[in-house]
Amino acid sequence: MAKLINVSNRLPVTIGKTIRKSSGGLVTAMEGLTDRLELSWVGWPGAAAANAAQEQELRQTLNSQYRYDPVFLSEADIEGFYQGFSNQSLWPLLHYMATKMAYETEWWDCYQKVNQKFADQVVATAESGDTVWVHDYQLMLVPGMLRHANPDLRIGFFLHTPFPSYELFRCHPDRNNLLYGLLGADHIGFHTYGYLRHFRSTVLRCLGIDSEIDRIPYNGRQVKIGVHPIGIDAEKFTNEVTSPTCQEYLAKYREAYAGKRVVIGVERLDYTKGILHRLNAVEQYLAAEDTPNNVIFLFIAVPSRGAVKEYQVLREQVEGMVGRINGQHATVENIPIHFIHGTISFPELCALYKLAEVCMVTPLIDGMNLVAKEYVACQENDDGVLILSEFAGAANELFSAIIVNPYSPHEIADSIRQALSMPFAERSERTRVLRERVCKYDAGYWAGSFLNALEKHVETEEEPVGETLKPSILQAAVDVAERIAVVLDYDGTLREFVSDPSDAGPTRAITDLLDQLSGKPNTDVFIVSGRQEADLQRWLGHYPFTLVCEHGYRSRPAGAEKWAVLTEDADLSWRESVLEVFRYFEGQTPGSSIEQKRSSMVWHYRRSDPEFGQWKAHQMMGELYETVSNLPVEIHHGKKIIEVSSVVVTKGNALRHYCGNGDYDLVICAGDDQTDESMFQAEIDNLFSIKVGAGDTAARYRIDTPNTFRNLVGTVFADREIGS
Ligand code: UDP
Repeated sequence: MAKLINVSNRLPVTIGKTIRKSSGGLVTAMEGLTDRLELSWVGWPGAAAANAAQEQELRQTLNSQYRYDPVFLSEADIEGFYQGFSNQSLWPLLHYMATKMAYETEWWDCYQKVNQKFADQVVATAESGDTVWVHDYQLMLVPGMLRHANPDLRIGFFLHTPFPSYELFRCHPDRNNLLYGLLGADHIGFHTYGYLRHFRSTVLRCLGIDSEIDRIPYNGRQVKIGVHPIGIDAEKFTNEVTSPTCQEYLAKYREAYAGKRVVIGVERLDYTKGILHRLNAVEQYLAAEDTPNNVIFLFIAVPSRGAVKEYQVLREQVEGMVGRINGQHATVENIPIHFIHGTISFPELCALYKLAEVCMVTPLIDGMNLVAKEYVACQENDDGVLILSEFAGAANELFSAIIVNPYSPHEIADSIRQALSMPFAERSERTRVLRERVCKYDAGYWAGSFLNALEKHVETEEEPVGETLKPSILQAAVDVAERIAVVLDYDGTLREFVSDPSDAGPTRAITDLLDQLSGKPNTDVFIVSGRQEADLQRWLGHYPFTLVCEHGYRSRPAGAEKWAVLTEDADLSWRESVLEVFRYFEGQTPGSSIEQKRSSMVWHYRRSDPEFGQWKAHQMMGELYETVSNLPVEIHHGKKIIEVSSVVVTKGNALRHYCGNGDYDLVICAGDDQTDESMFQAEIDNLFSIKVGAGDTAARYRIDTPNTFRNLVGTVFADREIGS
């Protein structure tokens, strides 16, 4: 049976004198998959072992009893990785609360270290082909680390929180590394389409990677993205409501609250849950209704992250406000707000859900919110009313709840009135629809849908055109060739793109490679670029290479001092009319600029807003086709550029000029964009064409990135010595 390794911050166990297994929706969902997958779990057991021997003992017990592989964390790990980076840095930002975000460099170091610990633990047991499912914001780097360690794992990631707008996520000092970590996955899941949309936009704006609605191309792979709203273990709740223990609690509470109408709220004591805003609204309600004596607000706040200052402050504020409101509105017969800072047992929780006529779920923002679904599941007679914040992920599904803006005290106060006066028929109809949905799309459905998407991705991925180049293939060709031409495009082939093209001088890795090539016998190197003469001369002029600039317009042959025109008959009379169009769009598109070369003209929009720049580029293409396409020009829409050049100037012509006379046994030719295709299509004997990166191509072989390409060429030519 195929293996599934589930990875979450916490293992579902509590370690005390004995080991107690917890039973959340995630556990049930996962265990529901065991008929098709062999499940194991990697996570922190929640306790620090006193010494190595104890650690070993606990590891053995957890592994043999539950197939859990613990990741032990030290006190310092917990502070830096969990309380610090996860809960004080990422959590507030993912929930749109940038002003609550704290940051310390040591936390980031610790987050990386602990994520690596999790990844190492997975790699220790996983085999190629196994499926690994990583959960949540504490482990955002793990997919990338796993991909690096074993590219043959099938890696899924699910984010249980919201993914915020780019404007928020961009605030994080480690934004790009976090995104790269996530993009190590094969499939990334979100609760709502809104979160997915923000993720795509953030990947575009932070990393410059364009994507489609369901996939993001990254490092030669397609990372799939999908919407999978999490469900609850509905059956567990519907069964519990009728259990004897729950019924006992219910009878007890009914007696305690006889004659009262109970409105419930259940949540962790967290600033995202909107508790203060809700109290404010309750105060307005009480004031407007002249303090009704039969309504009780039972607010249960489960203690959470008590070591973090923000949470201590919130507790004080909530308790202060509850005290003040009760002081003002309590009567001899009724204390309106019952505030409980504590946990309650599962049967008690279900009894309270059943007892309450109304449930208020009013977070300022929430990834999904399970309490809303749990309350609905417990309404076996369809008689409870759910008030639900429009900012909870659940609002995307539970639309027949009373949906409120949690920031609006009067809207919430109105919703309490509406809920308490709703006729039975309406309550019943609304809740029936909700309950059907919650029971149908439960935790098992969620887990199944995520894993199906993850599996499907690998099965249906289309192979890109062009065979992936293996070092041995090129090595074999090089080994038997006496004279070799190495024809290389520069940007995107030798050099990675950067936001300012003038910053794209050769890196150390490039100069190492070029130094190596320049010493090889019977090997001629040609750099064929779209760049201007000045750039090539400045960066590469000292090499004994032939340099060709402006896509073949001018060149400087190896050993020569001077540059000369290679394509004599180029008609350049179109320049003025093209410049006019370019100038118009430059003015309309902040961040864009014009580059005038001798034989062509380029409009760059790499530094413009990516979406706006793209839109303007499409407009410009339309305009150019209308105004200049009858002139002897070629219009090329490349990577964040539009270039208009003379139709007779092509890289293919330059290649034919230098390598078309049969001097070489092997012509290795590599490029990354549309302008390189004319080289790949040139009818030259012994042409070995390589496309670097994604996209359609006429090249015979394909390789994913400039880095892989450089390494491969370096390795293949390493042994080519004089006399070979
Ligand atoms: N819950 C709990 N202890 C309690 C009361 C409630 O563990 O004393 C559970 C509740 O049943 C729900 C979870 O806490 O499953 C809260 O999940 P939710 O998605 O609403 O919010 P989160 O805490 O994940 O932000």
